[in-house]
Amino acid sequence: MKENIHPQYQKCVVKCACGEVFETGSVEKEINVEICSKCHPFFTGKQKLVDSGGRVDRFKKRYGI
Ligand SMILES: [Zn+2]
Repeated sequence: MKENIHPQYQKCVVKCACGEVFETGSVEKEINVEICSKCHPFFTGKQKLVDSGGRVDRFKKRYGI
């Protein structure tokens, strides 16, 4: 019975602690998350990462690395 191997994949509502609600596909009907793409530091802190990257480049140039 191959049908029983995989859980049922369906539309899922993901609710984030920041208030963001979006739909995705999952075996769960509803998922509550504390962080999402809207409030994840990877996305919100992207500009900071770019800035620090520039600082590293200047540091490398200054010391001829
Ligand atoms: Zn969020």
